[in-house]
Amino acid sequence: MWLQSWMRLDQPRLMASLQAMGFRKWYERQLVVSHGWMAFCFICIILMATGLELFSSSKGFAEFLADSLFIAAALVGTWIAWRQYATRMVLAEAIGVQAHCLSCGHYGFRIDQNTLNTRKLTVRCTKCAHRWPISQYEDA
Ligand SMILES: [Zn+2]
Repeated sequence: MWLQSWMRLDQPRLMASLQAMGFRKWYERQLVVSHGWMAFCFICIILMATGLELFSSSKGFAEFLADSLFIAAALVGTWIAWRQYATRMVLAEAIGVQAHCLSCGHYGFRIDQNTLNTRKLTVRCTKCAHRWPISQYEDA
């Protein structure tokens, strides 16, 4: 899978943020941050189009080079922003679809303290204390 290494479930940083915020706040934050990246992606696409417009009217090598660098920077920004958006959304959705308690149907969980340093994430229902595993991908 193409998920970035820092977004994997077994990374301490992700576990720490999930534990500190709780699932619901973490999920909301992922949605807000990833849509911020999507907005930045659109801005970069607009900048790329602007660069192409400048490109067609450039005179001389220096202007050609400056316009090329502008377009390249906008392209890199678009790629980075898209990756951030897609990675965060895929992870948030993969965990989000597993966030219903299998026993009582309550939505949301807390991380089980005992599994913090393992690769497998076990979570506990905040309503009935039922425990279940969360995997990186919904089909795993
Ligand atoms: Zn429950």
